[in-house]
Amino acid sequence: MSETPDPSWSSTDPGTKRTYHHPIHPDGPADRAMPVMVVRGVRDGATLLTLAGVHGDEYEPMAAVQRVFAALDPTTLSGTWVAVACCNVDAYLAAGREGPVDGLNLARVFPGTPEGTLTEHVAHCLTEDFIRHASFLCDLHSAGRIFRMVPLAGYIMAEPELTTIQRDAARVFGLPLVWGTAPNEGRTLSAAYAHGVPAIYCETTGAGGCRDEDVAAYAEGLRRLMIHLGMLDGHVQPPPDQRLVEDPTPESGHLQVKNVTPVDGLFRPAVDLYDKVAPGDLLGRVTDLFGNVTFECRTDTVGTVILVRHLTRVNAGDSLAVVIDMDQTTTRR
Ligand SMILES: [Zn+2]
Repeated sequence: MSETPDPSWSSTDPGTKRTYHHPIHPDGPADRAMPVMVVRGVRDGATLLTLAGVHGDEYEPMAAVQRVFAALDPTTLSGTWVAVACCNVDAYLAAGREGPVDGLNLARVFPGTPEGTLTEHVAHCLTEDFIRHASFLCDLHSAGRIFRMVPLAGYIMAEPELTTIQRDAARVFGLPLVWGTAPNEGRTLSAAYAHGVPAIYCETTGAGGCRDEDVAAYAEGLRRLMIHLGMLDGHVQPPPDQRLVEDPTPESGHLQVKNVTPVDGLFRPAVDLYDKVAPGDLLGRVTDLFGNVTFECRTDTVGTVILVRHLTRVNAGDSLAVVIDMDQTTTRR
């Protein structure tokens, strides 16, 4: 497990694990190189790519891949597990969702370009050096500093055969909610789709923290995914109480466009995660600094609150909450 400047994860010896820093490009800033963990099994098998830190303030994914790397025994593994332990180092160093160098959202610029700014370089490097070589992508996120969120595994709904592969993997990961949505441009999942690599993403609590139960659920989800992909021995089933929601309407996967405040101010939620709401119910209020209510946010849909704004200060255009209808569930076994 030595630190080595070798940029190629694929040259890891069978039955070993190691870490190294992967340069964004040959002339890229060394202090923004991506920390990579590789565990190569003793037998051939799938290559599972796991991404953490696409957004720099999402800590549960970073802690979860550390836990899996420490625990995973290469002599029990078939194939290769590759984890980028922090994709967006510039954002991580600033404790922000986006990095200060260009302010771009890494989850909107895939597949990236070698001609662009730092974040576009990172997307290009992830696409070319990692995603296109994987047999499965699992991109781990959380609600970060700004939101808190119900743990979920998501996927895009594309061709039926690919959708089935992705849905099955998302279900087996084991989180309480599984969410299929329309494809979006610019995501890691879009880059995976372009290269024919099945993919899921996950979200969890965030709220500026790193709850141990969320880290444990992610680490266990990755272990379950490896079993599902034939990389570890065992047998896994989705949990019986899991909810499956599929919404193929355009923009369905865009969280930050719903229940948006038109004004700046202080947001105080009136609901919490898992609350059931009906059209007209209050989700929260925005006030000015004198306490005057400047915006009342009410839901226009029936459903369950899956995301709530956590950071109190809001700017006009910020999303305050997301409600989805979990009861139009089709739970498949
Ligand atoms: Zn994220």
